[in-house]
This record gives sequence, structure tokens and C-alpha cells, in this order.
Amino acid sequence: MLDIDSLVRPDLRQLKGYTPIVPLDVLSNRLGIPVEHLVKLDANENPYGPSPHALAAIAGPQPYAIYPDPDQTSLRAALADYTGQSADRIVCGSGADEIIDLLMRLFVGPGDVVVEAPPTFGMYSFNTGVVGGRSVAVRRRDDFTLDVTEVVAVAQHEHAKLIFLPSPNNPDGSLLSREDVETLLRVPSIIVIDEAYAEFSGTTVLDLVAAHSNLVVLRTFSKWAGLAGLRIGYGVMDPTIVRYIMQIKPPYNINVAAQVAALASLADRQHLMTTVLHIIGERERLYAFLAGHDDLQVFPSHANFLLLRVGPQAGEVKRLLEQRGILVRYYDKLGLSDCIRVSIGRPEQNDLFMAALDAIMAGFQLAATPSHAS
Ligand SMILES: *Cc1c(COP(=O)(O)O)cnc(C)c1O
Repeated sequence: MLDIDSLVRPDLRQLKGYTPIVPLDVLSNRLGIPVEHLVKLDANENPYGPSPHALAAIAGPQPYAIYPDPDQTSLRAALADYTGQSADRIVCGSGADEIIDLLMRLFVGPGDVVVEAPPTFGMYSFNTGVVGGRSVAVRRRDDFTLDVTEVVAVAQHEHAKLIFLPSPNNPDGSLLSREDVETLLRVPSIIVIDEAYAEFSGTTVLDLVAAHSNLVVLRTFSKWAGLAGLRIGYGVMDPTIVRYIMQIKPPYNINVAAQVAALASLADRQHLMTTVLHIIGERERLYAFLAGHDDLQVFPSHANFLLLRVGPQAGEVKRLLEQRGILVRYYDKLGLSDCIRVSIGRPEQNDLFMAALDAIMAGFQLAATPSHAS
């Protein structure tokens, strides 16, 4: 019998996979709640869905029988217009996730160091592991702010190849200041600023790319444009890095439907930005509600989600919400095990979340209050 395990790279045999969310249909079966009644606030998707123009475009007579353009010419041109950066600085991936993976393959060999600042997006350490690199963590403070001086010191000491920092950070929504990014750019590493939520934050460091060959900015259509299921993202960076990525990427990495939908979304960005504004308004409404709860702590967010510190019963809160058909994200990880993250939904979905949270938290209060009877 062939021993498959012995053929697998030793460093990958023990690798823990990324923990994704449970698929909606599986959860629907498990809970006995129809999919259409589930309130999905667990993956920061756009609750208004894709642009109707994007949906119409992919349903139309597109060249699906033909391989896509390996150079991504039309989408890169449209993104040049959208970002204000020249097309030779742009490369698209099957989600921003693929750009993260390609950057790892390009820069990180066995033992090379990648710096990240947890609690943060899980893909950086995951992809570092897959290429055999070494993930070095500079932990954030309790309020999720970052000690940039420490990041610089650690990156220099470890001769880091890459530093990954989202702005806004997932899961708390805090921004990295422009000043901090400029400080980081003095480190002789590639600095990846992951702006997956830039359309919600209204801030960017894209304009620094031209002057800094070590800056990479990541973007995606998954969150603001409602295309998470089609997998389309991009990176903006020095043309030299783009050329290398073009050399190593799977030639047909962007499928035709994703390309068509992204182009139509950019053409319809005014409508999509209207939904973004609705979401921001709802985020502020939800924030005000949560800030009025003295049994939990809510963190200011520049993205389309809010992180709440609810205490040691956070996992239980997540399960109780789930039983009511409301899905939020819970991470049993250092610094997050007392928190839940809720994506901003449509107003009626947020109302359901607020009512359910009120009831659940009141239940905990009741349980904690000593009984006066008998
Ligand atoms: C959601 C998310 C991504 C992934 O984007 P895709 O384009 O869907 O792969 C990247 N970075 C951060 C911080 C995210 O939250």
C-alpha cells in the first residue's frame, strides 16, 4: 500500500486548515430553518447583493466557451480608471485571497518570515504556512490598536520578507493611519496594506504606491460590490512585482464571469456606492445601539462589520443567535474568544439582530442576578 502521508511535505502534514464559515444550506438543515429565513451576518458580504447590471451582464451572451485573457487587459484598464493607478501596477486574482497566495509564492521560501498583527485576518498566517514560511506575530493591544514601532523592530530583526496589515483591520474595523503606513514603508520588506473594506472606510494609501516600490495595496469586489461568490480581487503595486506575479500566476486565474461582473460593477459604481452608504448609515445606527448596552463593549469600525466584546459567554451568544437564525462570527482565538463580529445587514436584518441580542443578553443578566425569592 502506498503511504500517501509519507509523500506529503512534512511541514504540511500537521498544517491546520483555515476555518471557514459553515455553508448556508448545511446550517439551514442543521437548524431546521429555511435558507431564506436565515439572517447572514457572518462573512461581511453585501446584503444588497450584486449590481443588477452585473447580474444582467453575466447572464448575457459572454464568451464562456473561450479561455479568459491571461493579461486581464480590459479589467486592469477599468481598474486603472477606478483607482487612478496605471494598469501596469495592477494585477487581478480570484479574490484578494489569491493575490495574498501569489505574493507568498513570489517572496516567501521555507523559513522566510512574514509578519502579521493578530487578532487579524486569518489568511496571512494560513498562506505563510502553506508555502513553508514562518509567521511572526506582533500582537495588537486589547483595544486592537497596533504598536507600529514594535512591528518595525520585529520586521527588521527577523528580516521579514512581507508584512501584512489590513486597514480597516478585520475583525475590529480599526484603521492604520497614513503616518503609520509611511513609517512602515521605511522597513526593507514588502508592506501589504489590505484594503478589502476601503469603499466603506473612504480612506486609502493607493496614492503612495507610485513613490514606494515596497508597497502593495489589496482590494476586492467581495465586500462593497457583492461579488464574494464570484471571487474577484486585485492588488496595486510596483510594475516589477506585477511582472513577476504575471510570470507565476495560473494563466487563466480570473474566470470570464468574474471579469464580466467586475467590469459591470465598476460601470455601475454609483449604485453600488449608494448601498455602501446605506450600510455605513446602518453601521452607525447599530453602533449607537450597542454603545448604549453597558453589558458589552463595541469597537468603532470603518468597515461593514462591528466587533463586540460580550464576555466569556461569547461562544454561547453566537450559538443562541444561531438558534434564532441569526448568523454571526465567533473566533475561539487568543484575544477574540470573548467577542463576536456582526456584519452590517439590511435595516430589517439589523433590527432582528438587535432584538435577539437584547433578549439573549437580558437572559444572561437574569441568570447572573441572585434570586430574592426563598
Ligand atoms: C474578506 C477579506 C479578504 C478576502 O477577499 P476576497 O477577495 O474575497 O478573497 C481579504 N482581506 C480581508 C481583510 C478580508 O476581510
